[in-house]
Amino acid sequence: MTFSLAIVGRPNVGKSTLFNRLVGRRLALVDDQPGVTRDLREGEGKLGDLRFTVIDTAGLEDATDDSLPGRMRRLTERAVDMADVCLFMIDARVGVTPTDEIFAEILRKRAKHVILGANKSEGSAADAGVLEAYALGLGEPLRISAEHGEGMPDLYGALQPLA
Ligand code: GDP
Ligand code: MG
Repeated sequence: MTFSLAIVGRPNVGKSTLFNRLVGRRLALVDDQPGVTRDLREGEGKLGDLRFTVIDTAGLEDATDDSLPGRMRRLTERAVDMADVCLFMIDARVGVTPTDEIFAEILRKRAKHVILGANKSEGSAADAGVLEAYALGLGEPLRISAEHGEGMPDLYGALQPLA
């Protein structure tokens, strides 16, 4: 059995960077698949021996960061409804923003299963943001660095029971 993972969160937290890391070169094949919308990118994810579908909410880039416009909310809800598990990412270097709190509320109400990822966690500049993330009420944040590939064993540990 396999599962689907939606990567959600406000613009610029590193969702697409992680998507690309999980999907790797298989993305080229994914683009040819039917039913893939422009705003939700879907790929075949790989992490250790796990194989799963990854959904990137790719259409958020033009949304503003200090509010949660209807489009961002609708796109996120669509991804959440499609997925067995959501990886909710925040930028640990910035800390928790009001927009992050709105995402957290959507996820608490709607998602089947949530993993909280505190991204950009390489180095001590992220420590304060990681601590803030506990207040989101979504469990223990995973320290990850999508860009540097750090924290992938912890992400594996969180996903493995779902496989
Ligand atoms: P998205 O809008 O959530 O899809 O974010 P992107 O994946 O486009 O990344 C936004 C910016 O954050 C880019 O400049 C990335 O290079 C940067 N970024 C992503 N992951 C990390 C990370 O782990 N550490 C740091 N320092 N920067 C990152
Ligand atoms: Mg993106």
